[in-house]
Amino acid sequence: MKSNISEKIFVTQPSLPPLADFIPYLEKIWENKWLTNCGEFHKEFEQKLAEYLGVKYVSLFTNGMIALQVGMQALRITGEVITTPFTFAATTHAIHWNNCTPVFCDIEPDTFTLDPEKVESLITPKTTAIMPVHVYGNPCQHEKLQKIANTYGLKLFYDAAHVFGVRKNNTAVCSWGDLSMLSFHATKVFNTFEGGALVTNDESLKKRIDFLKNFGFADELTVVAPGSNGKMDEFRAAFGLLQLERVDGEIAKRKAAAEKYRKELADISGIRMLYDLPGVKHNYAYFPILIDAEKFGMSRDALYEKLKQNNIFSRRYFFPLYSDFPTYRGLPSAAPANLPTATKVAAGILCLPLYAEITETELQHIIKTVRSAK
Ligand SMILES: *Cc1c(COP(=O)(O)O)cnc(C)c1O
Repeated sequence: MKSNISEKIFVTQPSLPPLADFIPYLEKIWENKWLTNCGEFHKEFEQKLAEYLGVKYVSLFTNGMIALQVGMQALRITGEVITTPFTFAATTHAIHWNNCTPVFCDIEPDTFTLDPEKVESLITPKTTAIMPVHVYGNPCQHEKLQKIANTYGLKLFYDAAHVFGVRKNNTAVCSWGDLSMLSFHATKVFNTFEGGALVTNDESLKKRIDFLKNFGFADELTVVAPGSNGKMDEFRAAFGLLQLERVDGEIAKRKAAAEKYRKELADISGIRMLYDLPGVKHNYAYFPILIDAEKFGMSRDALYEKLKQNNIFSRRYFFPLYSDFPTYRGLPSAAPANLPTATKVAAGILCLPLYAEITETELQHIIKTVRSAK
């Protein structure tokens, strides 16, 4: 074990299988000479992934952003879309790229997910969909959101990028709503370098998605819609199959590290952590802490800098809010006064490093640095 930390500790570290394990897959691809367009590995990965997640239909994508954009097209979402400002760029930008207007709704103070109590007052005749985010792997209040969607005839499309493998009362969180998007980006719990998927229970929707991710081709001569190109290639589908065998072990290691943080940081005043929710099997994708500058005796940004001086690269996910960026801040719903909880959370949030291979030495160094910061 290293006795002193001289290497940089980043907020995450991608999880990779032993290289030798991937070679046989590559040999198969070289042998088949079938590189993309729904090949053997694509089909197998789609099926195995649906089985693993416990969902009906999966459509693989080249990344999560394209999946979001295509998903909105598949659901024919137009006009205004109620969403959260406390998310990654992809959610809001996908709405923008579909010529829709994001309508920002505040979040809940406990889970940082979209506050269902605040959704209804934002609905107008132009609203066609709600796009919530299961941020940090915390499931949204699905029943309440689905009820609103049903009452007003809105689509419910989840950004499920953070809930790979997360289950609530033994159902897959990514099976909720009309559609869910998963991301397999290098920084996520489950990665295929880049990658993503759409998940649905509706067979005809799955079919439409598969046309749309392949330029709208239904067959050689029939183009049914102005599609995009979002297909996952064979290289990454094969890699996904290999990663699927390892992901449970990776989540278990993440859980152990998260529990250590929780135990060792519990007594520090001014630091709030998120804990496991009842009935939820978590994936420990992130380790966010919320700093109350007054009680902690130091601001979030000062702690971020202090960690950096000690070679610890934490991240201020998600700050600033997307409603604060130039593209969106002119929207009436972007006014901070409409988003008091999101504004407060964004000002105090900090994600500490968490990944499967984080070492005991690294964890102790981070914990010690946080404890001695103020
Ligand atoms: C990672 C992520 C996405 C999708 O990102 P890609 O890099 O395009 O796969 C979307 N939404 C959220 C909240 C994310 O964290």
